Amino acid sequence: MHDEILETLISEEAIQNKIKELGSELSEEYKDRFPLVIGVLKGALPFMADLIKRMDIHLEIDLMAVSSYGTSTVSSGQVKIVKDLDTTLEGRDIIIVEDIIDSGLTLSYLVQLFKARKAKSVKIVTLLDKPTGRKIDIKPDKAGFIVPDAFVVGYGLDYIEKYRNLPYIGVLKPEIYETKE
Ligand code: 5GP
Ligand code: MG
Ligand code: MG
Repeated sequence: MHDEILETLISEEAIQNKIKELGSELSEEYKDRFPLVIGVLKGALPFMADLIKRMDIHLEIDLMAVSSYGTSTVSSGQVKIVKDLDTTLEGRDIIIVEDIIDSGLTLSYLVQLFKARKAKSVKIVTLLDKPTGRKIDIKPDKAGFIVPDAFVVGYGLDYIEKYRNLPYIGVLKPEIYETKE
């Protein structure tokens, strides 16, 4: 598996250090607010699991699955709810946890949806931000790392459902795409 990676962009250690930082900031900001931390499946799963362990406050978690990408590396531009939340959002302070914000379509859809469900506040925490991909004007409240305009995998991010279990973020060798598309 690792021999299919061209280059490591963000090491496991760098990711974990950043998560410690984000976790202590969020602990401070959400102290006594009992936030609802919503992870966007499947990509945000490793980040969410590590981040909540660094939030030293009472919180609640829920998960949502949306799809916009299909199996390709290019966004279809459409967001579809695959699995909805179990929790009522009215009056809650929401922290959306995402793996990456690229076009911004997924997150702008979710922010609108959660506000329509009467959340008290909605903030976005993303591990990665790819500002060059933006199709809609939306900024995360917190972003771990800025990534260049390349398709990245690892630490939750997949290519045709593979590589989510890499502990680091990397770029695939070009021949991996060539042989599979
Ligand atoms: P957006 O709606 O902002 O375009 O991106 C939504 C989703 O597309 C992300 O949560 C992620 O699942 C996928 N995505 C965007 N950029 C990348 C990338 O560089 N690599 C991978 N593996 N997925 C990406
Ligand atoms: Mg995602
Ligand atoms: Mg994907």
